[in-house]
Amino acid sequence: MRKQIVAGNWKMNKTASETESLLTELQGMLPDTHAEVLVAPTFVNLALASRQLEGSAIGVSAQNMHFADSGAFTGEISADMLLAIGVETVILGHSERREHFGEDDALLAKKVQQAVSKGMRIIFCFGELLDQRKAGTHFEVVASQLKQALFDLPEAAWKQLVLAYEPVWAIGTGETATPEQAQEMHAHIRNLVANAYTPAVADAVTILYGGSVKPGNAGDIFSKPDVDGGLIGGASLNAADFTAIVAAI
Ligand code: PEP
Repeated sequence: MRKQIVAGNWKMNKTASETESLLTELQGMLPDTHAEVLVAPTFVNLALASRQLEGSAIGVSAQNMHFADSGAFTGEISADMLLAIGVETVILGHSERREHFGEDDALLAKKVQQAVSKGMRIIFCFGELLDQRKAGTHFEVVASQLKQALFDLPEAAWKQLVLAYEPVWAIGTGETATPEQAQEMHAHIRNLVANAYTPAVADAVTILYGGSVKPGNAGDIFSKPDVDGGLIGGASLNAADFTAIVAAI
């Protein structure tokens, strides 16, 4: 059976003390689950989160990283820096990185390659804009994003990849893809991976849905056969909501 994951992307939220409090709440409220649970605090709070969660059922992910080993890249964070504080998972390709920081598929391909070569696990985000959904080009858009950023990787690298389909029109908007829309796209994604690699690779890869997942809709979305969990933004900042979403898987 594929690994199921619920990951919380905290974005640019929570100071150090707020991070400690939310983690304490999460640790106290986390339900028994077969799914892997991850949180992604901001860079400055990763080390404390990693320490606080050591030995717990909650793992830690970074929200981004640079493609180079080290050097003159002011403001950036390397894979080795993350690994040195026990962070082995990184979110790459989030739509906010693409939109506000100009990250494109060519840059993301470099970041993914670096993370793969460092032995990290990548939660790779992609998804279409509202205009693209309205124009009916969403399947092609997603195919192109995956092809450009991921399909040059060797097959072995796919053990380190988790995919996160996040329709941009559903992120932070309160508007969610219907469970049927999510399933339709996830099946399409699995098909693309099967064609680029093998059906076995496609069958094994975890595909998360992200976009306004809340306690009230999580169960229906997670019930779809090709949806293997969620990447949760806003609702991951509230312990009751996040743990309710974990309980829904
Ligand atoms: C996200 O930022 O990855 C996300 C899915 O956000 P939200 O759940 O707030 O839509």
